[in-house]
Amino acid sequence: MSFNHLGLDPRLMKAVGAMGYTTPTPIQNQAIPLVLEGRDVVGIAQTGTGKTAAFVLPVMQRIPAKPGGVRALVLTPTRELAVQIEGVARDVAKHTRHRVAVVYGGVGYEPQRQTLTRGVDLLVACPGRLLDLIARGDCDLSSVEVLVLDEADRMLDMGFWPDVRRIIAKLPASRQNLLFSATMSPEVLKIIAATLDDPARVEVTPATTPVEAIAQSVYPVGNKDKAALLLSIVREHGLKKVLVFTRTKHRADRVARVFDRAGIRGAAIHGNRSQAQRQKALESFRAGHVHVLVATDVVSRGIDIDDITHVVNFDLPDVPADYVHRIGRTARAGRSGTAISLLAPEEHGQLRDIEKAIGAILPCEDHPGFTYREERIVPDPERVAVSDARPAREGHAGAAAANLGGSKPKPKRRRSDGRSASGRNGVSGASGANAAPLVADTDVRAASKRTPSDLQPRQRARRRRPPQG
Ligand code: AMP
Repeated sequence: MSFNHLGLDPRLMKAVGAMGYTTPTPIQNQAIPLVLEGRDVVGIAQTGTGKTAAFVLPVMQRIPAKPGGVRALVLTPTRELAVQIEGVARDVAKHTRHRVAVVYGGVGYEPQRQTLTRGVDLLVACPGRLLDLIARGDCDLSSVEVLVLDEADRMLDMGFWPDVRRIIAKLPASRQNLLFSATMSPEVLKIIAATLDDPARVEVTPATTPVEAIAQSVYPVGNKDKAALLLSIVREHGLKKVLVFTRTKHRADRVARVFDRAGIRGAAIHGNRSQAQRQKALESFRAGHVHVLVATDVVSRGIDIDDITHVVNFDLPDVPADYVHRIGRTARAGRSGTAISLLAPEEHGQLRDIEKAIGAILPCEDHPGFTYREERIVPDPERVAVSDARPAREGHAGAAAANLGGSKPKPKRRRSDGRSASGRNGVSGASGANAAPLVADTDVRAASKRTPSDLQPRQRARRRRPPQG
């Protein structure tokens, strides 16, 4: 299947060729014809599925370039995403005469005002700065023909929805609406009902299905020992492209500093850092100068880097969907990847929610030579996820530890039928020996109806005290 049958203008086709795209992704296949027809569209798709080109290409075709005000408006939650969308839009507009601009906060106001004065066809914007520009009379949205709401679920999470509603109130009532969201929560459904007119729905699972390619495991550890454990793992295995998620900005800074002090270049990106600082950190990480990038969830959607080998949940996320998003930053573009979660005693509730959501029990590992007290290890007797203790020097590996270059004995958890409970990637399956799908959020919701005790025969984990030292 090529782009030829999608009905795109030859100039856009030329741009697609120059961008190196030969085959449309599933979301592009489904969405482009619908957008070209003028339909309102709801796309359930995550970053990484090619969704940006799925809306930018047909939107450019819907709004032939001409002088005047903004004709297509793309609202997106983070600056990183805004910059990425702008980049795709500029590439797409290479042979058309569309003018593309991006506005977001944290950088100078005046250059953005001047750009708008010169005229813009497609404007990519974060809500806060756009409202500023509107309030000061520097941005007129009365000619908008197409509105794109990108990452609608994230905009809700981040509390942007009141701003978005104020912006929508400034748009002509008659317009085409496109909404993209990784999840379809009741809140998102409400937006759709209020904003979109008889939308067509398209839905795709991510290009790389995480569970197929990601070895996932949990390292139980006390909260204050997390940094030391992570440093030890990264150092021992010489990891070079590690993305770490923390719960707070402060913790992100602290983890990055720990690595820096240990001579491993780390950087942090979060909402308190300026746009220039975030871009610099991202570029250094992409180029391999920074080996450990520490981020908060708020900025994570903007991280579009293909060769991240390890994602680390330094803190477990409160929302299981964030777990799926986070670990989806590795194993991109057909590569394999490893996801490690550092589990403090107070995080068992989150772990249980995540396991329910993904329909699998994550195997627990420990790190050779790293000591923690036994009572910290997964205390829930209904959960069978702890391997027997191993002598400190031998290594102790499930699939994730194997990916870390450790020795390869399988986790010793056993099913009641005597077979190993470990799935292909060290993730025990929701039913039988098959790993449960960890894919689209619809699947996650379906899986969430199950409970860990449905997934595993009830067994009491028998553990010996790990050797100290
Ligand atoms: P997105 O989901 O829009 O963030 O896109 C994820 C990545 O896929 C980006 O690096 C795009 O450049 C790339 N991409 C998008 N569409 C295609 C395509 N049809 N063929 C190859 N790569 C693509």
